[in-house]
Amino acid sequence: MKTIFEKSNGVDGINLTDEKIDTSFLDSSFIRDEKIGLPQLGELDVMRHYKELSDRNFCIEKGFYPLGSCTMKYNPKVNEFLAALENFGSLHPLSVDEDCQGALELMFKLQEALKTLTGMDAVTLQPSAGAHGELTGMMIIKKYFETKGDLRKKVIIPDSAHGTNPASAKMCGFDIVEIKSNDRGQVDIEALKLVLDKDVAAIMMTNPNTLGLFEENVLEISRLMHENGSLLYYDGANFNAIMGYTNPRLMGFDVVHLNLHKTMATPHGGGGPGAGPVCVTEALKEFLPAPLIDFDGKKYFRNYNLKHSIGSVKAFYGNFGVLVKAYAYILMMGKNLKNASENAVLNANYLKEQLKKYYDLPYDEVCMHEFVLSGEKQKHQSGVSTLNIAKALMDENTHPPTVYFPLIVHEAIMIEPTESETKEKMDEFVQIMIKIAKEAEIYPEKLISAPHTTPVKRVDETLAARHPDLKFQG
Ligand SMILES: *Cc1c(COP(=O)(O)O)cnc(C)c1O
Repeated sequence: MKTIFEKSNGVDGINLTDEKIDTSFLDSSFIRDEKIGLPQLGELDVMRHYKELSDRNFCIEKGFYPLGSCTMKYNPKVNEFLAALENFGSLHPLSVDEDCQGALELMFKLQEALKTLTGMDAVTLQPSAGAHGELTGMMIIKKYFETKGDLRKKVIIPDSAHGTNPASAKMCGFDIVEIKSNDRGQVDIEALKLVLDKDVAAIMMTNPNTLGLFEENVLEISRLMHENGSLLYYDGANFNAIMGYTNPRLMGFDVVHLNLHKTMATPHGGGGPGAGPVCVTEALKEFLPAPLIDFDGKKYFRNYNLKHSIGSVKAFYGNFGVLVKAYAYILMMGKNLKNASENAVLNANYLKEQLKKYYDLPYDEVCMHEFVLSGEKQKHQSGVSTLNIAKALMDENTHPPTVYFPLIVHEAIMIEPTESETKEKMDEFVQIMIKIAKEAEIYPEKLISAPHTTPVKRVDETLAARHPDLKFQG
């Protein structure tokens, strides 16, 4: 397919040169004298070009999207409609409090809802992604210890953690201490005790962890950490697994981030916008980024009065459109948020039980919202790797699951169906996975050369990462 620049045929879709634009007030050094080089095509050609491009895209509206740890669920479109309402979409972020009571009320009530869901005491809505929430949370933890005059340097992170966890802690200047999981995929308590000393500021945990397993010893872990004067950070990106059933506060955590773009109605992938609110206990409230949204009984207002605030982590108050969608979704779902988690967990366990007959399941336990298979059997028997299986799925109009993560599982295939899929759709996926497992035995060459039907075949991922060439050279 040609780029729109290559298709350019000189037809004026719109002719700007007819317009008399007064540029006399501009300094002449700002006026361009050569052509800008934009493509020129008629409206119909432009439309066909972008329609063709969008048809090449895969999205949840097109097919099954079981990308583990990403919660690619269907997000009701009504939330998009609400976020686009003129009075939300056109509101200026510098409007004075009196003029934007509605928006402030919405943010305040969203904070309250997230407090209820997480069990925490205070919330900032500023961070714009999960990893950004982690960074904010770690900055809060750092400042907490600095303020106490107790400079701790270490952060403990289990080997099953999301890669952003060590990166966020490191960016805050902490040293990372990794601990191994035990043979049941849980944090190894003995390994934890061995590294716990007075230099440990915090542990960063995901629960359920990236194997999709609930950490059974989480209360013991929080007791050990708190006795050591350390804090507990909860990576709540996968909150879809536990909403309404339990919460990080009950598990003993001090700081939590949520990914509203995974759990609360904002579609994601491709880089945003998202929202990664951070929720903390009362003891950490004064460290949150200012302003918080507050209510004095009469009016809503921006509260900058935080004694040890780490400062701002994002312009204004975060990605407001995402906050509108999340609040609308929470109101729409009400008590059914609990059902979303229940069905997400049920769906994952259903798929796991169906698929474990055909693929290795290294941790054969009841799972939460996702589970991790291994393509090791196929790799050994016929040289068909997990990557080949992922590519073969693309030929079946199915988005591949997350592969080669978590790192502790060889040839990992991490599957998260989410609550929004029907049994029929999951059964279809099972049949496709069985077909691929059989093909791996009798016709491995087909899988090794997959995909066969996609517009783009195998790409050189190493080259793409090492030499990103993102600009069209005409
Ligand atoms: C997705 C995810 C993150 C990162 O979230 P972003 O919004 O992509 O920055 C962190 N931790 C876990 C467990 C995740 O699944």
